[in-house]
Amino acid sequence: MTGHEPLRRCVGCGRTAPRRSLQRWVLDGSALVADPAGQLPGRGAYTCRAQDCYERARSRGGFNRAFRRAVQVPPTAPAGLESSENVHLDTA
Ligand SMILES: [Zn+2]
Repeated sequence: MTGHEPLRRCVGCGRTAPRRSLQRWVLDGSALVADPAGQLPGRGAYTCRAQDCYERARSRGGFNRAFRRAVQVPPTAPAGLESSENVHLDTA
C-alpha cells in the first residue's frame, strides 16, 4: 500500500491526522518542549499545529494523560502554532 502515513491523535481535540501534519511534543525532564523536526527521542505526544489544541490539551490534562505523568506545560504555546482557523479549515 503506497501513500500510507502513520496516524496520530491530537491530545487537544482528539482528531486523528497524519503524523507529519501534527506538532510533536516531548518531555525535557518534566517540562513539555516542542519537537518541530519530530526527531527527539522518547515518548511523544501530538497536537494539531493550533494554539487552540495546545490550550485545550494544557487545560484539560491531555499532555498529562499522553505522558502518564504530571507535565509542566508552558502557559503560552511556543511560536509556530497557528490559529485553529488556519489549521482546521480544510479538514472538516
Ligand atoms: Zn487538535
